[in-house]
Amino acid sequence: MVDILAIGSGLKTAYELARAAKDVDDKVRVDTAISKIMDQLTAAQFGLFEMQQQYQQLIDENRELREQISKEERFNQYRLKETQQGGFVLELKDEYVTEDNPKHAICQLCSQEGRLTPLNKDPQYYHCPRCRVATEHTYHDLPC
Ligand SMILES: [Zn+2]
Repeated sequence: MVDILAIGSGLKTAYELARAAKDVDDKVRVDTAISKIMDQLTAAQFGLFEMQQQYQQLIDENRELREQISKEERFNQYRLKETQQGGFVLELKDEYVTEDNPKHAICQLCSQEGRLTPLNKDPQYYHCPRCRVATEHTYHDLPC
């Protein structure tokens, strides 16, 4: 981690050097002071650059974590359900069924990859349109 206190104290040193050099007539001493000031400023600049990179990295991590959390929250709306023949699907919990989100099941394999794929349904099988896995169900598993 970049030490922000170190950057601050470097800038303070540069400021003090500049203030001390202001009243000095000796050119060599002024040049030395200026060179030290430049060193401090360069160090501060590198520090800030590094800090900016770390800041960006934190922003990226934060975004990824938020995406992950919102994905997991979406999957929390489903419960694992065993079909009569022993297959498994993830069925939308009743409390999440709305007019815009009708009762349906999603693919359990896809969910393990973080994908939410609603299953197509025919009289005997759920079909995953993405991984093409078919899981048996009976007529009465889900109301149409
Ligand atoms: Zn699938």
